[in-house]
Amino acid sequence: MRLTRYFLPTMKETPAEAQIASHRLMLRAGMIRQASAGIYSWLPLGYKVLKNIERIVHEEQQRAGAIPVMMPTIQSADLWRESGRYDAYGPEMLRIKDRGDRDMLYGPTNEEQITEIAKAGLKSYRDLPVNLYHIQWKFRDEVRPRFGVMRGREFLMKDAYSFDIDRENAERSYNRMFVSYLRTFERLGLKAVPMRAESGPIGGDMAHEFLILAETGESEVFLDRTLADLTLGERGLDYADDAEMAAIRGDWTASYARTEDEHDAAAFEAEVPEERRVTARGIEIGHIFYFGTKYSEPFGASVVNAEGASVPLHGGSYGIGVSRLVGGIIEASHDDKGIIWPESVAPFQVAVVNLKQGDAESDAACESLYERLGAMGIEVLYDDRNERAGGKFATVDLIGCPWKVVVGPRGLKEGTVELGNRRTGETENLSADALVNRLAAQFGHG
Ligand code: ATP
Ligand code: MG
Repeated sequence: MRLTRYFLPTMKETPAEAQIASHRLMLRAGMIRQASAGIYSWLPLGYKVLKNIERIVHEEQQRAGAIPVMMPTIQSADLWRESGRYDAYGPEMLRIKDRGDRDMLYGPTNEEQITEIAKAGLKSYRDLPVNLYHIQWKFRDEVRPRFGVMRGREFLMKDAYSFDIDRENAERSYNRMFVSYLRTFERLGLKAVPMRAESGPIGGDMAHEFLILAETGESEVFLDRTLADLTLGERGLDYADDAEMAAIRGDWTASYARTEDEHDAAAFEAEVPEERRVTARGIEIGHIFYFGTKYSEPFGASVVNAEGASVPLHGGSYGIGVSRLVGGIIEASHDDKGIIWPESVAPFQVAVVNLKQGDAESDAACESLYERLGAMGIEVLYDDRNERAGGKFATVDLIGCPWKVVVGPRGLKEGTVELGNRRTGETENLSADALVNRLAAQFGHG
């Protein structure tokens, strides 16, 4: 993309309404524009990042066996009356009437809708397990929408719903989602810690929230430091191996990690040696939950088991805050110049900065690099504006491209261009060919 042809409405000033870094940086980098309180338009740069996150979430959901579907945003109130949640949900639910005076609502979540689908489509234990998910906009009329996309009213969520014959099998489905969340968040460049969450009507320990640690997080969290250092890394995962899935969940839940709602100071002190006790703030980016027959019973969603008896489905739901993640990743990865994108979600992998636009040699070198890198499938932003070098650097640092290629007459005289890494700040002078090879290797085209 040539910057002169793009739509990148950056701002130099710090917007007064933004209280935290990610909100400030998303506005300054021209990623979003507020439409009304807690409701945003996604501008080109922000939309690219949102789509990159979505792609990774899709890949990892499907790798873990979940099947993509798409349910509507507008739901009928009658569906929610069946579960008893229409009245219980309260003022966070946006209630609408259609022209026939029927009560409708903008979905804050989809348990009712998916249970109705499962009821109609699942007949026998042989149809199970099934896990259906979608990535769809939700609306919750939050009392205090704030921090930009972190606590919006309209927000994008991945929500998956598993259906099993009994609790034991539901636990297997739960474990697959648990493990896939670890992998998903690692791919997004995040260190997410699963923490014990309120377990609802069923009890037991099949409810976890995944949080990233960040000073601006809304929840207070208490954890054993060892958990903050655990990673899956590159290891292969076999989602069909129930024992492996259970073992991984075991490793990640062996040490103390709870949010303030579940925190027990005495247990924290008893279980965690003092030097490993961490009290911090966290951002909830995912929430997984086994709810048993809570929805299948009122909806009469049952299947025939191996003995020929009709039994209610056992369900779980699994959410990821896809739009919140855009802010969450920035909270976890920025400096005073701007955003530092992990390569996996960066809107552009490489920025090419022409120090002297209009200089025949510099222009030609930039055009050639722009074309060669683009031909390898690397997303390149070419800053071809007629602007001072300082302004160009400020822009590419603000929008956080992982790699910066600086091209100018002085370097070209020596036969070199400069390659800079946004995260480490390291720079290196090398020939255009060497640079192309380096980036080809970096992005797996080597
Ligand atoms: P919170 O405690 O932050 O209000 P929640 O527990 O009500 O969230 P869930 O119902 O668990 O939210 O929704 C699944 C995920 O959707 C959350 O883990 C979070 O990442 C995201 N999410 C929830 N509410 C919002 C919101 N208002 N704006 C952006 N993302 C949200
Ligand atoms: Mg939650």
